[in-house]
Amino acid sequence: MQKSEKIFVAGHRGLVGRALVRRLTGDGFSNVVTRDRAQLDLAEQAAVDAFFTQEKPEVVIFAAARVGGIKANNDSPVEFLLENIQIQNNVIRGAHQNGARKLLFLGSSCIYPKHAPQPIPESALLTGPLEPTNEAYAIAKIAGIKLCQAYAREYGANFISAMPTNLYGPNDNFDLVSSHVLPALLRKAHEAKKKGARELVVWGSGQPRREFLHVDDLAAACVFLLEKYDSPEIVNVGCGEDISIRELAELICDVIGFAGELAWDTTKPDGTPRKLLDVSKIHALGWRHSIPFREGIARTYEWFLKNAAQP
Ligand code: GDP
Repeated sequence: MQKSEKIFVAGHRGLVGRALVRRLTGDGFSNVVTRDRAQLDLAEQAAVDAFFTQEKPEVVIFAAARVGGIKANNDSPVEFLLENIQIQNNVIRGAHQNGARKLLFLGSSCIYPKHAPQPIPESALLTGPLEPTNEAYAIAKIAGIKLCQAYAREYGANFISAMPTNLYGPNDNFDLVSSHVLPALLRKAHEAKKKGARELVVWGSGQPRREFLHVDDLAAACVFLLEKYDSPEIVNVGCGEDISIRELAELICDVIGFAGELAWDTTKPDGTPRKLLDVSKIHALGWRHSIPFREGIARTYEWFLKNAAQP
């Protein structure tokens, strides 16, 4: 990528989009274009068309999505399906119609079947039924992957797709109802410590296993793939190691300094039993993550204390 190329980051206010803008500007890319929702509603096709016609970005990174944790996904399948398909269709189509030379579509590890082999290779896509708690989001993301692959096959577009594992980092959603597990447990452990509580409530059984990647590592992987990868075949992005939810809760309590007990709310779903990506493909291409998990949690907690904790 040329440092002066016009790069549109769709979704720059989110966890991933903010990390991408930090990384791109830090790397010296001088023409990063962004629009917040008040300026451009990505769900409005006419507005997205007008934006692309006027700006004609050369590179597009699709990091815009309605996202949420297990409860939000499970409670609002209509919104997750409709909005994600609308915005990705508008952006991918607009990029192609206005001559973008490359597009990176960001998917998710939940696109893979509930009982995929572990670690999950890219070839597991569409080999079995999905996890019901996030099926709507997964179906939308699969449609986005397939649309990029269709543009590549039918029109020769250089539209690539990366599948990140569970992400965390600064600017995450720390709301206890709609967030993912890591920011939720950070907030819960912080509040439990502040109140001197005896226990911290964790959802589910603690048995499910998840893999976590710091969002700054994902941003680095995105720039790497934009520069080095030109195939419509999807690529997993993860750290290659997983941890049980119980171990995660214990680690977070340790980082934060909460010494009470864990209590399990088994009325909440466990979701998919295990989600660990096979990252041998991106390793073979020459990229590896670099932020150690404990350090990443500590850095995220610092950000939370400054920006999202109640006074
Ligand atoms: P998932 O990876 O799509 O299942 O999404 P989440 O990050 O929301 O949940 C991962 C796992 O953590 C599930 O088994 C949840 O039940 C469990 N979990 C434990 N405590 C919490 C919590 O406070 N919030 C959330 N979102 N998940 C939790």
